[in-house]
Amino acid sequence: MRSLMWFRSDLRVHDNEALYKAMQNQQVIALFILSHKEWEAHHDAKLKLAFMWRNLQALQKKLADKNVPLKVISVDSWAEIPTRIQQLMEDHQISSLYFNHEVGIDEIARDRAVYRQLKKHHLDIYPCHDKTLVKLGSILNGENRPYKVFTAFKRRLIEVLQYQRFENYFEIPAQNKIDIASDDLSVNPYETFDNPIYPAGEDSAFKIFQNFLKEDIFTYHTRRDLPAIEGTSRLSPYLALGVISVKTLLQEALMLNEGDFHSGDEGVLTWMNELYWREFYYHIMWNFPQVSQNRAFQEKTENIQWRESESDFEAWKNGETGIPIVDAFMRQLKATGWMHNRGRMITAMFLTKNLLIDWRKGEAWFMQNLIDGDFAANNGGWQWSASTGTDAVPYFRIFNPVTQSERFDPNGDFIRQWCPELAHLDNKQIHKVQKHAIVDLKSSRLRAIEAFKSLS
Ligand SMILES: Cc1cc2nc3c(=O)[nH]c(=O)nc-3n(C[C@H](O)[C@H](O)[C@H](O)COP(=O)(O)OP(=O)(O)OC[C@H]3O[C@@H](n4cnc5c(N)ncnc54)[C@H](O)[C@@H]3O)c2cc1C
Repeated sequence: MRSLMWFRSDLRVHDNEALYKAMQNQQVIALFILSHKEWEAHHDAKLKLAFMWRNLQALQKKLADKNVPLKVISVDSWAEIPTRIQQLMEDHQISSLYFNHEVGIDEIARDRAVYRQLKKHHLDIYPCHDKTLVKLGSILNGENRPYKVFTAFKRRLIEVLQYQRFENYFEIPAQNKIDIASDDLSVNPYETFDNPIYPAGEDSAFKIFQNFLKEDIFTYHTRRDLPAIEGTSRLSPYLALGVISVKTLLQEALMLNEGDFHSGDEGVLTWMNELYWREFYYHIMWNFPQVSQNRAFQEKTENIQWRESESDFEAWKNGETGIPIVDAFMRQLKATGWMHNRGRMITAMFLTKNLLIDWRKGEAWFMQNLIDGDFAANNGGWQWSASTGTDAVPYFRIFNPVTQSERFDPNGDFIRQWCPELAHLDNKQIHKVQKHAIVDLKSSRLRAIEAFKSLS
């Protein structure tokens, strides 16, 4: 019997549920589908696609060690996928398809169409849940409904994790050689967008993680908010593409804390908490598909009168707002494809509150530039900052970027790195709003509060 393993955003061999199950007593052929037009429509950054390609190359090597050939097909639209998969399966006498679920309304519709097509042709299909710590949609309250508040969600999640054993899928033996050749992936069409900071492949991701576990995780709670230093794991590009398993990450961190979810090392607990936030946003997108349809979680916030100002939006995108910390972070994003979490919150809140520009514009810009662009985490982060999401920041709690700057970049080191024109200013002056600033922080704050207040 032969099975087909369809890789999507799970580009690894280690601890991959669908791959593991596909290989049980079956000969496996792997598949990846190139869909450049769809990726563009979903705003995937070229930098992320270049990284994806390098990870695909690394995956192909890992699969070759297991004698699993990787076939690559190319489509213009996801609508072509059901027939292309069916044809491939028939051409190679494959009877079952395995994949790990993805979130997002388009992704789910694509997979349902594949399901229908294969069923029509009497082929089997086995979707698995591997992008998250637990099965998507399985964390429910006493009324069998999904949680909308993070703390309650987290409480239940930890209960489930404590009492239900982790299901891991570590060891995969090599299969006998198959007479099917892998397709050629040697030419990376996105090569010019490469970011050498992130070495590709699951072994590299694991090495970065192991280094983080040696030291930085123990000081994570005190250093994670300081953009001038490397106080976080920098694993997000790998997690977004599934190059490393989130279950493996949580388990290894938990082991450092002697299996304790509630007390113990503060650094480890704080870091694990971030993995729960990721989990929360994945479950939100799975349970409330409207958030992946360009709609706010809180319906009433659809009535906000967002401002239309292309010049303000351009200034924000290019790091030319005249607010030093905002400009430093926006330049970091443009130059490196990554932005510190504190920066994502500050710049997102600045765009949606001080500039009163629609969060969807910012969400798209982040996706178009982030190497770690992740639909659920990005959407969750934007809707949190814009106060349109579930369990979002209250609309009247607007960060003052200058105060944030003084607190989290006290010596101005981060600003000096990205805004060299301000490097001569002393540690006090460097945070201040510049003369040419595009907005007045005080009056724009009141304008945002009024816009939200008028909804209730
Ligand atoms: C407006 C906005 C947009 C964001 N867009 C993305 C995105 O596209 N992709 C993305 O991976 N993260 C996003 N985040 C979350 C967070 O900023 C990044 O995950 C984090 O900065 C990545 O760096 P790290 O890997 O060093 O994180 P660490 O601090 O080491 O955290 C470990 C992992 O936990 C997860 N995580 C951490 N913080 C959050 C969070 N607040 N929400 C959800 N998951 C989290 C990530 O997977 C991260 O890799 C966004 C946050 C905001 C406020």
